[in-house]
Amino acid sequence: MTDGFGRVIDYLRISVTELCNYRCRYCMDETGVGKRGHEEILRLEELAEIAAAAVALGVKKIRLTGGEPLVRRGILDLCRMLADLPGLEELTMTTNGSLLSELASELRRAGVNRLNISLDSLSPARFADLTRRGRLSDVLAGIEAAEDAGFRHTKLNAVLLGGVNTDELSDLATLARDRALSVRFIELMPIGVCADWPPERFVSADAVLQAVPGLEPVGTDGVAALYTIPGWKGTVGLIRPMSCGFCDRCSRLRLTADGKLKPCLHSSEEIPLRGLHGDDLSAAILEAAARKPRQHALTAQGRSDSPRRMHEIGG
Ligand code: SAM
Ligand code: SF4
Repeated sequence: MTDGFGRVIDYLRISVTELCNYRCRYCMDETGVGKRGHEEILRLEELAEIAAAAVALGVKKIRLTGGEPLVRRGILDLCRMLADLPGLEELTMTTNGSLLSELASELRRAGVNRLNISLDSLSPARFADLTRRGRLSDVLAGIEAAEDAGFRHTKLNAVLLGGVNTDELSDLATLARDRALSVRFIELMPIGVCADWPPERFVSADAVLQAVPGLEPVGTDGVAALYTIPGWKGTVGLIRPMSCGFCDRCSRLRLTADGKLKPCLHSSEEIPLRGLHGDDLSAAILEAAARKPRQHALTAQGRSDSPRRMHEIGG
């Protein structure tokens, strides 16, 4: 499947829930969600049917996200259904890691190939404040559990939050010194609850290069520019949605938990898939690919066009 600009679209992100057990300050408001009723959220069978149609059209990689995917009831069943799809090369998940201690082994057995785990701070107090209810020790235990369960090439994702965690860039990056994982720093995007945050919160990924002397470029991985220091086992990735557009390499479609296919994270455009089957479903997926914009709205407008908050789309 290709879009109108010749980009190959082979990556589907599926948000399996809008709910989350954390309330990260840049992603959700304090009260959480509850806007959509249970019946508005796609059932597991519907998610699997859409995924199967997308894979038949050339999607090779699926990432499960949310909200927090591990709070979705039946998530292991869904993983099993998707992992069995012929033609799917990789099933991955982005998680806050809080429930991985219990679930990492089962996720592995259910066919998940790789994990991205979010980790914005190594200070227990700051982590608790940032997530409003998270415990750093749970996430660190989750990272260990993932390793013990056999997950490899795990990515730890930290959002750059100016004046909040920018004094920890070196400590976070150094997690890649002794472990074969990638610590990836992501520029904060002005979407949802943080769209109106002051400019000093939005920090360029260059701050990492300044904070960690000696990083040497070693290539790219998807939208991340990779660096390492000779002797380190892992890598440091910089993801720059703000300071350096990567839209020319975009290969993604995003399915929201309520069944809308988004051609672009930052566009308000959504193609409803619920209730479609067979050729109609395939045609709607192809239409979403065809409607991908050349570039997202962030650079030109300074803020996202999407009315949804991040936990309602799936980061
Ligand atoms: N709950 C899971 C987690 O936190 O990993 C998955 C969903 S979360 C929305 C996915 C990723 O989006 C997280 O790494 C989060 O830090 C990131 N994210 C949320 N809001 C963001 C924003 N405004 N800019 C950049 N990244 C953001
Ligand atoms: Fe939940 Fe992830 Fe959003 Fe944090 S970033 S509130 S963990 S969905």
